[in-house]
Amino acid sequence: MNDQSDQWYFEIGDGNTYGPYPLEKLQKWAAAGNLMPTHRVRQADSQEWIIAAYVPGLELTTTAPEFATPSSDDEDATLGKSLGAMVRGLGRKNKTDSEEKSDDSNDQASNATAPLEPPDIVGLCDELLETAFKLGASDLHIDPEENVILIQIRVDGELEPLKKLPKSILAPLIGRFKILSNMDIAERRLPQDGRFVRELGPDQRKIHLRSACLPTTHGERITLRLLALETEQFTLNRLGMSESALKTFAHFTGQKQGLVLLTGPTGSGKSTTLYAALRHRLANHPGRIITVEDPVEFDVVGVAQSEIDHGDKLRFDSALRNILRSDPDVIMIGEIRDHDSADIAVKAALTGHLVLSSLHTNSAAGVITRMLDMGIQPYQVVATLRLCIAQRLIRRLCPDCRKPRNLTPNEAKVIGRPQAEGAKIYDPGGCEKCNNRGYRGRIGLFELLPITQELARRIIDDCTEVEISDYAREQKIPSIRDDAAQKLLAGVTSYQELVGVSAW
Ligand SMILES: [Zn+2]
Repeated sequence: MNDQSDQWYFEIGDGNTYGPYPLEKLQKWAAAGNLMPTHRVRQADSQEWIIAAYVPGLELTTTAPEFATPSSDDEDATLGKSLGAMVRGLGRKNKTDSEEKSDDSNDQASNATAPLEPPDIVGLCDELLETAFKLGASDLHIDPEENVILIQIRVDGELEPLKKLPKSILAPLIGRFKILSNMDIAERRLPQDGRFVRELGPDQRKIHLRSACLPTTHGERITLRLLALETEQFTLNRLGMSESALKTFAHFTGQKQGLVLLTGPTGSGKSTTLYAALRHRLANHPGRIITVEDPVEFDVVGVAQSEIDHGDKLRFDSALRNILRSDPDVIMIGEIRDHDSADIAVKAALTGHLVLSSLHTNSAAGVITRMLDMGIQPYQVVATLRLCIAQRLIRRLCPDCRKPRNLTPNEAKVIGRPQAEGAKIYDPGGCEKCNNRGYRGRIGLFELLPITQELARRIIDDCTEVEISDYAREQKIPSIRDDAAQKLLAGVTSYQELVGVSAW
């Protein structure tokens, strides 16, 4: 025996081979219920794959009893049968070259006995991902409850139940997603983050997924976020800005220097807009673009993206300083959260860079007061800030089943357009194309507030957020509400959806 004999590879049926790891490590994973007795393993110095259950220390796992049938004299044989069937199930997808031979032997094993229909975890995970993608979900939640696993998806911002699964498959289900996500499968007490890429749908589109796993009292839960649908989605034209807003946006993001700040609640599409701006910028004004993000949500070709945990303040700030030294033309900072990151953004904008970022506040006017609250001096705000953008997302009516009706006098009053009484608007319907939701996809609502000379004067004079908003309305700058009303009257969204927008 040489040193190699202690080293093992394993497969879980996703087309990848993991390892080599010492047997001790595999045994640890098996004991934690993450490496299943059904997974295939092989010694580093051998080409022969075997079922983990046949390797000492891997045969008894916490998950095995849940799969076995009621105990009987020949429990071992029963387990063996189910293992054969399961491994066959695992091998069905993503075949690897070396799999041909072992498929045969598995066939023999399962042909010899009636299969027990054990859960095909790999197939189940694939099915969940495919379903989430097909239904246009942004998130897939796997939540253990006391007696069941609740599977939910978020579609167009709304959480909806998908199905319930038996609690007994929790460990292998979570284990499978953890391995896909490159998480430590043995760690079950600490939260973990991961990511992977998956080809989904009939066109096998490349979908980036981010996963977050968290222990709860009922066991580990995992959330999978389906990121980039397709990068071409993030072009300026698709955001839903009006023509004049688009012109303003393109103008300011095409400048050599200055600060452009976006705001809106979580999930309001800020990063989509930032990425669209980067792509537009790159296409029209080639130059060096560097980003500091937490996390990097989409890959943008031609842009140097760095991912730094905002929680790690020292690293975040020093990364930002480093970036300034590397002489970029455009810097995108995922989010400004405190004085230090705001200060660096302002300094970068003052020294000849275009800086794009987002911050948390309620309105376009609030961006200005938030910068002041973070300790940026009014003269610095005025010298750097060029454009504030507030953004929300609302659901788009399904064009195939929306139902026309007239705007009532009361509704006309609520949306601030009394003269629009009787105008044709649409209610959601329900059809096959929208899965009976009445809505398909979402669209942005925007307010773009450029810092004019007059506004700058008011900022220096220490005006309030309300005064800034009043000024914007005097200047006939459309608010989020105006944009929503315009989209209602254009038949893009419904009255119900519009009154649901938090800013209303
Ligand atoms: Zn429909």
